[in-house]
Amino acid sequence: MRYVSTRGQAPELGFANVLLAGLANDGGLYVPTEWPTLPAARPGMSYAERAAQVMAPFVGDDVLGLQQLCVEAYSTFAHRATVPLVQIDDGHFVQELFHGPTLAFKDVALQLVGRMFDTVLRERGQRVTIVGATSGDTGSAAIDGVKACSNVDIVILYPHGRTSDVQRKQMTTVHAPNVRVVAVEGTFDDCQDMVKAMFNDAPFRDQMGLSAVNSINWARVMAQVVYYVTATDVLRGPVDFCVPTGNFGNVLSGWIAKRMGAPIDRLVVASNANDILTRFFRDNDMSTAPVVPSLSPSMDIQVSSNFERLLFEMNDRDGGATADQLQRFRATGRLAVEPDQRAEFLEHTFLSARVDDAGTLDVMRRTYEASGMLLDPHTAVGVGAVEQLTHLGAGPMVTLGTAHPAKFPDAVEKATGVRPPLPPHLADLFDREEHFTVLPNDLAVVKQFVATTFR
Ligand SMILES: *Cc1c(COP(=O)(O)O)cnc(C)c1O
Repeated sequence: MRYVSTRGQAPELGFANVLLAGLANDGGLYVPTEWPTLPAARPGMSYAERAAQVMAPFVGDDVLGLQQLCVEAYSTFAHRATVPLVQIDDGHFVQELFHGPTLAFKDVALQLVGRMFDTVLRERGQRVTIVGATSGDTGSAAIDGVKACSNVDIVILYPHGRTSDVQRKQMTTVHAPNVRVVAVEGTFDDCQDMVKAMFNDAPFRDQMGLSAVNSINWARVMAQVVYYVTATDVLRGPVDFCVPTGNFGNVLSGWIAKRMGAPIDRLVVASNANDILTRFFRDNDMSTAPVVPSLSPSMDIQVSSNFERLLFEMNDRDGGATADQLQRFRATGRLAVEPDQRAEFLEHTFLSARVDDAGTLDVMRRTYEASGMLLDPHTAVGVGAVEQLTHLGAGPMVTLGTAHPAKFPDAVEKATGVRPPLPPHLADLFDREEHFTVLPNDLAVVKQFVATTFR
């Protein structure tokens, strides 16, 4: 399988190079040149076996031992079914994607992507240093995904004193020689600006072998296709999905599963008060507004980077047209698409709804009262979006459960009066010793730390 950039100007690459590159060098995102047909499931396949089978056409021979990597990645999940389906109402299921080591759905992709990185780098005799900024979930999932990798070092920056205790502890209690966690005396934006500055410094980037595993990485999108497929393997389709959305990566994976032939009807894009995507899908109005903090912080995003991959499809895979449209969006803060572009994608597949914080708490309370289930605030946004929509298909609805309730105990307690305990594999999290380095909000100091800490 070969990959092309959504902006049409970068060289075509194979899977391994796409994995390591992240962003294309024309600023676009890599997508496969064609969508393979979904292979039929064999009876009794495990999640790991189905994952390797579904991903094989995308990966080819570029990563050796794919099935073994899947087995290892998904053995870190604290549930035999990896991503179990739990029924919450007639015809409505939650697919729990949060049984991985850091209790959020990002583990599904990052446990595998870390291992793929290591395998490819070992074959090539290379090392990389992953540098990333986090406001919470991504940092811990990335650290956990690479902590056992011998060819990857990782430095994660987070804003000192501005993450939740659970989120910080999940990063700072990992003790591995290739992991460093830095508390920057600044905001999340300061951290992100420093990471961008390091990547923009070409000599530094090359000397350090800097790399990223952010949500635009194709391999993450690919790994997420699998759970849509396994849900449709067991439910009688066509199935609708509702996806609590931030960067659009997760719901894009659902579109790809459908494109490959999985029996999927509707994809519901659920947003919180940061509702740029809902305004786009409902009213063809994609205009940026300031980010407001919510109870579902991993969805507090205004510009959803993975949307570019859908836009490329809406432009009949014309990279030049996609680049022009994005250019106009950056210049004017508004993106609108033509009626014929809308029809296929927007009217027949995507629906969207918005649930604010008050609505989120209300869903969490009512779900607990009706079914005894605790939902985290992100998943609750999804369930609330389903309740709002009337023109859904006749088949089952699956809302993706993107975080474990214990990851957001304050919001859960506020809504239900119950403080959810951490699951057994993390029960002693608050007793574990923390390791982190506090650094000033100063690019030169942070760069010096990155350059010297592993050697
Ligand atoms: C990252 C995240 C999301 C948003 O996922 P996208 O792929 O960015 O749309 C939703 N919920 C939780 C808990 C997350 O960590």
